[in-house]
Amino acid sequence: MPHNAYRSLGKRLLVLGCLAAASCTQLPSVPPNKAVRVPSPNFDERRPNYVVLHQTTDNTADEALDTLTDPARKVSAHYLIGRDGTLYRLVDESRRAWHAGGSYWGGNTDMNSASIGIELDNNGDEPFAEAAIVRLLALLSDLKARYRIPQANFVGHGDIAPGRKVDPSAWFPWARLAAAGYGLWCPLPSEALPGVAAGGVEEVNGGLQILGYNAADPTAALAAFRRHFWGIESTAPPDRNDAAMLACLIQARSASPAPP
Ligand SMILES: [Zn+2]
Repeated sequence: MPHNAYRSLGKRLLVLGCLAAASCTQLPSVPPNKAVRVPSPNFDERRPNYVVLHQTTDNTADEALDTLTDPARKVSAHYLIGRDGTLYRLVDESRRAWHAGGSYWGGNTDMNSASIGIELDNNGDEPFAEAAIVRLLALLSDLKARYRIPQANFVGHGDIAPGRKVDPSAWFPWARLAAAGYGLWCPLPSEALPGVAAGGVEEVNGGLQILGYNAADPTAALAAFRRHFWGIESTAPPDRNDAAMLACLIQARSASPAPP
């Protein structure tokens, strides 16, 4: 019998002995706070599975670079895209950049560990420069292909930190990104649906949570949703338009193709 087979047999006998005994507390031969190191060659780098988009809320890329490289500020992103289309790489993709802060999306409470963060040079009160969006789309194509990131996992900072962050602003062209395969999208209803249906508040809150939002503060989550998917700033009560849009997006996510 080869050596590995003996080792495997020994492990099985140990397990059988453990199962037969009243308890397994005597099994480990090392102190319980120590691990037996048995290196395996079968691994690679951890993979980001989300992309979080930001705006710098500065007037120039240089201002943003000062902030994003200042040790005292403790903020960063993997990439910054200047409004002229220049791509700045600040943190290696294999490292955890500090762009999301306290965050939540779909049960994930540490988006910094799970995502690539991209800052866009934009002051938050202006359209996004065409050259920056063109460069962004090329970068997203590369990231999506390399990490096999699902279409639904391209989100904004405001989505994952409602009530705390509002970027990117309502100017951001989410529909254009979604048409290229980055993020979900549904067309606006052709006719506005007035009023709040009975049970509409619970329906909208439930839909926000299913989509991924932290709805602990329902007003903040709804405002983030409207900024992203309606392109408006609004804290009005939820209505049937929100419910219809959420239902459409949840359906779109389930229908979006799985990454190859
Ligand atoms: Zn941000």
